[in-house]
Amino acid sequence: MDQASSKLSPPSAPREFGFFVNGKSIPAGDRDIFERASPGHGVPVTRIPKCTPADLDAAVAAARAAFDDRRWSGLNGQARAAVLLKAGALIRERAEEIAYFETLENGKPISQARAEVGGCADMFEYASGLARSLHGDSFNNLGDGLFGIVTREPVGVVGLITPWNFPFLILCERVPYILASGCTIVAKPSEVTSATTLILAEILTEAGLPDGCMNVVTGSGSTIGQGLIEHVDVDMLSFTGSTAVGRRVVEAAGRTNFKKLGLELGGKNPQIVFADADLEDAADGVAFGIGFNTGQCCVSGSRLIVERSVADKFAQMVQDKFAKVRVGDPLDEATQVGAITTDAQNTTIMSYIEKGQAEGARLICGGEQLDMGRGQYIAPALFGDVTRDMAIAREEIFGPVLTIMPFDSVEEAIAIANDTVYGLAASVWTKNIDKALTVTRRVQAGRFWVNTTLAGGPELPLGGFKQSGWGREAGKYGVEEYTQIKSVHIEIGKRTPWIE
Ligand code: NAD
Repeated sequence: MDQASSKLSPPSAPREFGFFVNGKSIPAGDRDIFERASPGHGVPVTRIPKCTPADLDAAVAAARAAFDDRRWSGLNGQARAAVLLKAGALIRERAEEIAYFETLENGKPISQARAEVGGCADMFEYASGLARSLHGDSFNNLGDGLFGIVTREPVGVVGLITPWNFPFLILCERVPYILASGCTIVAKPSEVTSATTLILAEILTEAGLPDGCMNVVTGSGSTIGQGLIEHVDVDMLSFTGSTAVGRRVVEAAGRTNFKKLGLELGGKNPQIVFADADLEDAADGVAFGIGFNTGQCCVSGSRLIVERSVADKFAQMVQDKFAKVRVGDPLDEATQVGAITTDAQNTTIMSYIEKGQAEGARLICGGEQLDMGRGQYIAPALFGDVTRDMAIAREEIFGPVLTIMPFDSVEEAIAIANDTVYGLAASVWTKNIDKALTVTRRVQAGRFWVNTTLAGGPELPLGGFKQSGWGREAGKYGVEEYTQIKSVHIEIGKRTPWIE
């Protein structure tokens, strides 16, 4: 890669990765290989082993042994924090390499990938403090004969399954918190974006994480993913991905060992714009909310719900923003919207754009496949005349497709916003504090933004209401998710006999 120019080049040959068990990278050997082509260029960029069920068993056994002998959970918080801090520093040192592979495999703009990697280092730094401050509770009000303590203990071996849209960011919103709690990990990244998860495993070993505490198995969801969710030696499973696969995770846990679950699933997130908003800010935020990461975010603001009196004017403002957004080569620093990550996702998005028109919605702009000579690109699409029953208004598209629905009252805006099975994220744009707070209180969403969108940081938890998932990641809540609570009852003094 040529770091001096403002436009990097794809590699001349794909990089070979091994999978990672017990502190070591294991080469593919005679296993099958998944060769990943960059969605922005169509050239092979990585070669990833397809692990076997025996590899999965070995990874779980390594994580089990590392947890059971307390080589990690038995360390004090200071020692665990030191490893996490060092990992944060190493992520910063290798930031350019991580961002490069993130862009190559995912198709996101390199400038965005760099910013995400910086945020990931920050996650490790923040979580290091939580390794030291995680604590329980005590009860000194149980009478003179009894004292109560509530301790938090790590759950154990955590299976971690991640999607392809933010391979490194979603990983780092979980791994440092899981490790801060004292748990050990078997991670299964998406088969199309495994590289940066494997780089993180190397970094953690270099940072001093004991062998066996971070293992990575690579391969398809239907084999290795399914094997992980069914594994009886896995105590907790953190799954981020589609609601359909999330359902399988719940079923598998019910059929096997009732492992504890964390689920972060899909979204169909409203952006509510009132006439009294700063419309220039709102138009920019709405365009960002659906254009960022080509709309392939679980929290993309895909439903614009706008006060009728400004609806036409606001649609024109969003259209003007879309016209200026720079869609192009993900390796070009100037690019704002990159490539669609997979062929399958490209087909899905294009089929929704057709379906919207067939259902009677009006395509105001965009929605066409852009010819960049190579790779797969879609111009952000804006749909008017959308009704609440249309598939484009109800189903998660996971692409740069924005629907507009007008409203006449605060009540109607809230009703439209909540008319979905999902409850992941929402934004409201208004300068009126009463409206802002009423909507914030009444719209069902795990993440809420007022006069902004897609903002966040390691302090604030992530997760959804309704069919968007269970539990929370990140923040102090994120560490607590990976703990079990134990109530300890301590008798003081001589026992009052039951049998005299
Ligand atoms: P996906 O559900 O197809 O895959 C996610 C992960 O699950 C991948 O690693 C995949 O290999 C694995 N998987 C697939 N089948 C499996 C099975 N039977 N058993 C176990 N694992 C299996 O999702 P995707 O296409 O990678 O990502 C897009 C989806 O993820 C969208 O629906 C999006 O909303 C959701 N998502 C949610 C969040 C969130 O935080 N809520 C974040 C990112 C993505």
